[in-house]
Amino acid sequence: MRIILIGPPGAGKGTQCQRLVELLDVPHLSTGEMLRAAIQQGTAEGQEAATYMNRGQLVPDQLVLSLVTRRLKGPDCRKGCLLDGFPRTLPQAEMLDDLLERQAMSVDGVIELTVPRDELVRRMLARQREDDNPEIFSRRIESFERQTAPLLEYYERRGKLISIDGLGTADDIFQRVHRAIRAFRRSRR
Ligand code: ADP
Repeated sequence: MRIILIGPPGAGKGTQCQRLVELLDVPHLSTGEMLRAAIQQGTAEGQEAATYMNRGQLVPDQLVLSLVTRRLKGPDCRKGCLLDGFPRTLPQAEMLDDLLERQAMSVDGVIELTVPRDELVRRMLARQREDDNPEIFSRRIESFERQTAPLLEYYERRGKLISIDGLGTADDIFQRVHRAIRAFRRSRR
């Protein structure tokens, strides 16, 4: 299966992804992690990405897309994948659809984790990451609302979106995620 997880920064995508990859038995493709790895390795792509990430801005579509395209060609992705943090803009979603279509593949379902903004801020203050200071964090939430939220409508129109409440324990939320996966499986048949 090819599943996309969408949610604002701090929505708990990471935790749910860990469990989901086990359930689906597919590779986990996190563009945030790919970008951080590129920065660690000091590649030209990493250096370019860092200038955006440090400001809480989205990295240009083309850069992210070239990382994802390369990764999606891996033989392990043939059986499916879990996309985490990608697509994040409408052009990325369109390019992903094109890319998959050319290989006779498609996205099976999109799960949105919804969490109110004050809870996101509370969670951010409880964890530590370089791009997690309050000012940059609110910029990342704004990028989400401005650039990523329109994707929800894109997938909704295609009948692929299930939105779930991201409040509760990790177990509670995973139950909801699992229910969404079962619904996607049913609609595939
Ligand atoms: P979060 O979901 O908490 O924002 P991520 O690890 O997914 O964290 O992303 C960290 C940063 O990496 C983002 O703020 C953004 O700058 C960049 N990034 C990740 N994925 C993408 C993407 N698909 N398009 C553009 N920028 C991205």
